[in-house]
Amino acid sequence: MQMHCAQVREHGDVDHLLLEQVPIEQPATDEVRVRLRASALNHLDLWVRKGVPGHRFPLPLIPGCDGAGVVEAVGDGVDEAWIGREVVLIPGVSCGHCTHCRDGNDMLCPEYGILGETRHGTCAETIVVPERQLLDRPEGISWEQAAALPLSALTAWSMLRKARLTTGDTLLVIAAGSGVGTMAIQLGKLLGARIIATGSSGAKRQLAKDLGASHTIDPADPNWWKEVKSQSDGEGADVVFENVGQSTFEGSLRALARGGRLVTCGATSGSQVKVELNRLFFKNQQIIGSTMGRRDDLNRLLRLQQQGLIEPVIDSTFPLQQIHTAHQRMESRESCGKIVITPWKD
Ligand code: ZN
Repeated sequence: MQMHCAQVREHGDVDHLLLEQVPIEQPATDEVRVRLRASALNHLDLWVRKGVPGHRFPLPLIPGCDGAGVVEAVGDGVDEAWIGREVVLIPGVSCGHCTHCRDGNDMLCPEYGILGETRHGTCAETIVVPERQLLDRPEGISWEQAAALPLSALTAWSMLRKARLTTGDTLLVIAAGSGVGTMAIQLGKLLGARIIATGSSGAKRQLAKDLGASHTIDPADPNWWKEVKSQSDGEGADVVFENVGQSTFEGSLRALARGGRLVTCGATSGSQVKVELNRLFFKNQQIIGSTMGRRDDLNRLLRLQQQGLIEPVIDSTFPLQQIHTAHQRMESRESCGKIVITPWKD
């Protein structure tokens, strides 16, 4: 039996994303096979395709970290009752028994990996994963919505918690149109913050407002950070939510209040940034790095989704055979929210 998938054999432009047919894998001990009903793209998929200097991905590799589907086969040691269950995949894979895993901080596990980065991912018709990657799909949530939530919601939630965002804080969300940005606004609002967001297009700024931002800023103006100050009685933002890096970082630091926390999970525009240390320590500020989050938190986020308190913003949906168009759209930076991949259509 064969399945369709998108696979990276060599890094490069969008043509290096190969549509191939590969044998369907049998689940080994403690593993299950899931027939995917929807997957979602993340910026990580672009890094996997293009490559990252100094980093080796295990090629050939099927990208895709997010997915939801139906369990169709189980390996030894897995209860057959799983077969037919509708599930959402936990994107982070960890050993499950080291100190960090036992403490619930699975993203600190020395063996931590991500679907579609360290092992085959979800841009395929099926995926084999350890049983412990499965969570039940929340009732009443569409396949597309279920697949669009995990990585961006978990990342955003974890960042806001690490930055100790609290009621009454001003939260500045950089790049509100990204998957994590749209989640940060919704979660920030739930945590009682006042939200200012940057968006590089009118559509992205409007989306930020619709999601609950009280003020939006066009980052094209080199002094955009001054507007954060003027919108917060000259104080600046208590928490800055960064995922852009080089092109916005200096402004993000300038927008930060005394005692403020800048938290970052990404560097889509480049990772070399300038930090004025005098300003950082005189103002008692913190820069915090964050990647992924605790698997327990994903349960909480799925509950919030089921209660209608958060909802992934879906930009567009493409069947698997149009994944090139999907990648091009994400790379164009025109998308607002998540790009979802649905099963191959003959
Ligand atoms: Zn571990």
